[in-house]
Amino acid sequence: METVPEYFGCHVFNDATMRTRLPKDTYKKLKRTIEEGKHLDLSIANEVAHAMKEWAIENGATHFTHWFQPMTGITAEKHDSFITPGDDGTVIMTFSGKELIQGEPDASSFPSGGLRATFEARGYTAWDPSSYAFIKDGTLCIPTAFCSYGGEALDKKTPLLRSMEAINRQAKRILKLFGNEVKTVKTTVGPEQEYFLIDRNEYLKRKDLIVTGRTLFGEKPPKGQELEDHYYGMIKPRVAAYMADLDRELWKLGVLSKTKHNEAAPSQHEMAPIYTTTNIAVDHNQLTMETMKKVAEKHGMVCLLHEKPFAGVNGSGKHNNWSLSTDTGTNLLEPGDTPFENAQFLLFLTAVVKAVHEHQDLLRISVASAGNDLRLGANEAPPAVVSIFLGDELTEIIDSLVSDTSYDQKERVPMKIGVHILPRFPKDNTDRNRTSPFAFTGNKFEFRMLGSSASVATPNIILNTIVADTLEEFADRLETVPKENFNTALHDLIRDTLIAHKNIIFNGNGYDGEWIREATEKRDLLNLRTTPDALPYFIHEDNIALFERQKVLTRTEIVSRYDILLDNYCKVVKIEALTMIDMIKKDILPAVAAYQAELARVISEKRAITADLPCDYEENTLRDLAALSSGIYRKLGALERELADVQKLSDHQAQATQYKDRLIPCMSELRADADAAEALTAKDFWPLPSYSDLLFSIV
Ligand code: ADP
Ligand code: MG
Repeated sequence: METVPEYFGCHVFNDATMRTRLPKDTYKKLKRTIEEGKHLDLSIANEVAHAMKEWAIENGATHFTHWFQPMTGITAEKHDSFITPGDDGTVIMTFSGKELIQGEPDASSFPSGGLRATFEARGYTAWDPSSYAFIKDGTLCIPTAFCSYGGEALDKKTPLLRSMEAINRQAKRILKLFGNEVKTVKTTVGPEQEYFLIDRNEYLKRKDLIVTGRTLFGEKPPKGQELEDHYYGMIKPRVAAYMADLDRELWKLGVLSKTKHNEAAPSQHEMAPIYTTTNIAVDHNQLTMETMKKVAEKHGMVCLLHEKPFAGVNGSGKHNNWSLSTDTGTNLLEPGDTPFENAQFLLFLTAVVKAVHEHQDLLRISVASAGNDLRLGANEAPPAVVSIFLGDELTEIIDSLVSDTSYDQKERVPMKIGVHILPRFPKDNTDRNRTSPFAFTGNKFEFRMLGSSASVATPNIILNTIVADTLEEFADRLETVPKENFNTALHDLIRDTLIAHKNIIFNGNGYDGEWIREATEKRDLLNLRTTPDALPYFIHEDNIALFERQKVLTRTEIVSRYDILLDNYCKVVKIEALTMIDMIKKDILPAVAAYQAELARVISEKRAITADLPCDYEENTLRDLAALSSGIYRKLGALERELADVQKLSDHQAQATQYKDRLIPCMSELRADADAAEALTAKDFWPLPSYSDLLFSIV
């Protein structure tokens, strides 16, 4: 049997494969291109393409595709085969450098937010050589960026790469001030991914799951997650077999799948990979989500990645572990051993604190979706208010800095940057609080507001950009300071910044209602509860200026993204409303009517035998169901009217707000009645698998 190291990355045209397959000189030039982000010239591209094709064909590939990440949040691919006809009825397999570095897909059906009129349908894709090509289902996939012919980004990779370049630029300036000259600073990401697994046969009986990815109805089961017996519990053999298969497939694709366990809700699980460079982590997370779904199918199961598949039990999120790392392997968010290293660490930490405080709106927007709105603030995920957890020890140090007092009993003097050594913070101490949206966990920050189904690109674009901007401001200020005053200037900068931004630091329970009051009333933090509340901040002039300053997004690109996000929100809610209406009319009301008929039949048959046979159950249930079905029918009408009304609005923002304020409450009321009817209806008559059937479907 092949061992893991033998097959790890066997579907990836990775560095080891490149080294053995490419002429030495070509390999070196390609490496330089990758490391320095240089342009690849065509003669090298031709050689790389040739080697890639030979390797891909040997590994069973017949097609190639430019694999890209349009604004839909998932990936897109259009496959071309390698075949070229010969003169004699035969074919040869070809793949040119030009085909490797650039593609021209018809882009008219991807969301562009008005960036591209359909008459200029073409977009182009360009290879991102910093992410390896790989083989998936017989196709050589080339990770690419996707732009319009005018050069505007139509995808998530382009701004991500730009944001990485921005933080690289600014972090290097900061390091230089500390006498550290490095070639590159890259951000690193380890995204923990939650998911549900349910039996495929049960899934296929639920129109809501098939169409919307979540249940729109379902009476609360007698047992949910309250016994807390699933988290880290024994993994059932069928799930274990799935997880083993998932690992194998991910490893073949070079994804560093590391940790797997059961999560809090029944049928909920998690996978965490080992962290890697951000753009690769983003590509890998997309591949992970796709592979999770594909492997589930092989095992007769369905993997649900929706943020809230079931009401009443925890939904799924993603934790975005984020740090900065130099090409020499130093983690810039790791406190060092000397006063000087500590000072550098504190400066980066301070930059993050300021960036997060100043740009709460953008961080909230980066995780905004209709699905995630169902989860944030619902005592299972962080609230919609952004705050930072630093842990007691680090907070004490910061307090001491801010107030010029000693930070513990033993130290008699106040903490002085560049003079004193920080104590080592044991990782455990900093990692207890699970309720914080943004927690420092010893040597990285963990952003915990992400939804499970979304690409991790957007949160990282935002994080990189806001931290780059703060680092730029710091570098501008410190670069003018004469060397002999550096320590004092640094101390003052860190102190002044922390004083101005310490309101964002909160180490308490983020699920507590009291915190939301304190955050909004005393600390002036934003509470953007829903996507329509958050999105308008995206196009504020300050934010446009920020993205333009850091060369991550242009004004037009931002406006188009804002529009795509609003449009997506409206469409998701609309599809859910339509699915509800359809299920009520075709499945639920007919089922309730049939059961009422059955009860009526039993009552009249009993009465025919003798008038005094008790019919309490039948009569009371019939009465309750009759009332509920009238209620359902009335609320159905209300929902249909609201849906017709909202279509009349032409403005996307107004539409989204109306969906949130009018449609969603209507849908909740309708659901409540339908769920109450489910509770009274005999199982044989109910047309949908129950929550228990779904949540405990894997035995
Ligand atoms: P927990 O469940 O306690 O949050 P896990 O071990 O499941 O912790 O996940 C931690 C994640 O953080 C892993 O994906 C890990 O690779 C990642 N990580 C560790 N160090 C870094 C770093 N320097 N930069 C980014 N991610 C990191
Ligand atoms: Mg975590």
